[in-house]
Amino acid sequence: MSGRYRNQHFLFRARPRGDISPDDFQLIDVPVPEPGDGQALVEVRYLAVEPAMKGWMEGRVDYVAPLQPGDVMRGQGAGVVVASRDPRFPEGTAVTGPFGWRRYLLGDGDAMPLRAVPEGVSMPAALNVLGVTGLTAYFGMLDVGAPQPGDTVLVSGAAGATGSIAGQLARIAGARVVGVAGSAAKCAWLVDELAFDAAIDYHHEDIASRVAQLCPQGVNVFFDNVGGSILDIALANLADRARVVLCGGISRYNAAGIPPGPVNYFNLVYRRARMEGFIVLDYAQRFGEASRILAGHLHSGRLHHRETVLSGFERLPEALLALFRGDNLGKQLVAVHD
Ligand code: NAP
Repeated sequence: MSGRYRNQHFLFRARPRGDISPDDFQLIDVPVPEPGDGQALVEVRYLAVEPAMKGWMEGRVDYVAPLQPGDVMRGQGAGVVVASRDPRFPEGTAVTGPFGWRRYLLGDGDAMPLRAVPEGVSMPAALNVLGVTGLTAYFGMLDVGAPQPGDTVLVSGAAGATGSIAGQLARIAGARVVGVAGSAAKCAWLVDELAFDAAIDYHHEDIASRVAQLCPQGVNVFFDNVGGSILDIALANLADRARVVLCGGISRYNAAGIPPGPVNYFNLVYRRARMEGFIVLDYAQRFGEASRILAGHLHSGRLHHRETVLSGFERLPEALLALFRGDNLGKQLVAVHD
């Protein structure tokens, strides 16, 4: 095996102080493993990067074990089985799983579970719409936000992976959807391709007046990926019985110290509204149900998706950093082979 292939891993080296740096990772050469009984050797084609990785690196979150220096950097991937002694995953099967930042790995039962990519689905789509991203959008929007036909739904981080799917799910549920994103090009994509009703470029427009103008009856559901001033503006514009869904808060992920809380939180009282966080992993028992519905929307063409792909395994740290600059449209992936 090792004569034909070259294997590398990215290790997590040090907890970031402030922004993530490429020095927080270490690239090492390792042998290609040989599959034993019940194992399959996977050649990784795509790896996904996500803002949540910052929290895992800092050891701040408690919903997954914190990364320890020396661990292989954690992350979802997609690849192809190139040698197999597992009859469930013969050579040539496209698979996804929690591969970590590796070029090659052994699929191995519970220790490294593999999932076959459904027929007719590309690997990037499997990591995006049918991966953790799609599941997060599904449960956050439909379970916690519960948009009703005719509701007005506001989504921050709307042109990112989760936001772009969450907004479309609200539209499919019959809501009017307004997105907030970081450039005119992103806003044009939301309206022209994803059929959002409107979009606000928060770098170049006055968000407060635009939200008030575009949501004159108030916001029934706010799906928040960002936090900070955008959350505060949404809180000031709630409709009665509104649902504020806290999915993420990327504006705070690089902040030094704890940023101040939202000034307008008391509008939750006046509007009899609810603000609720969620963690997608809590819905694991229902992933099958959600995957079937998401696959249905994907195949019917109702749900559009986009991936921004950087080529080259060694560019993984660069791809992770790019999320915090907003370079990505849709899901940020790395194609492992140039
Ligand atoms: P993403 O939205 O594809 O990428 C991050 C986006 O955030 C960027 O494209 C950028 O877009 C925006 N951004 C970056 N810095 C910002 C800032 N300071 N202020 C405003 N916007 C900023 O990432 P994702 O993987 O889909 O994750 C979205 C959020 O969901 C994250 O906060 C993540 O932690 C959260 N999440 C939660 C769960 C859960 O279970 N609750 C699960 C997965 C992910 P612009 O150009 O628009 O600024």
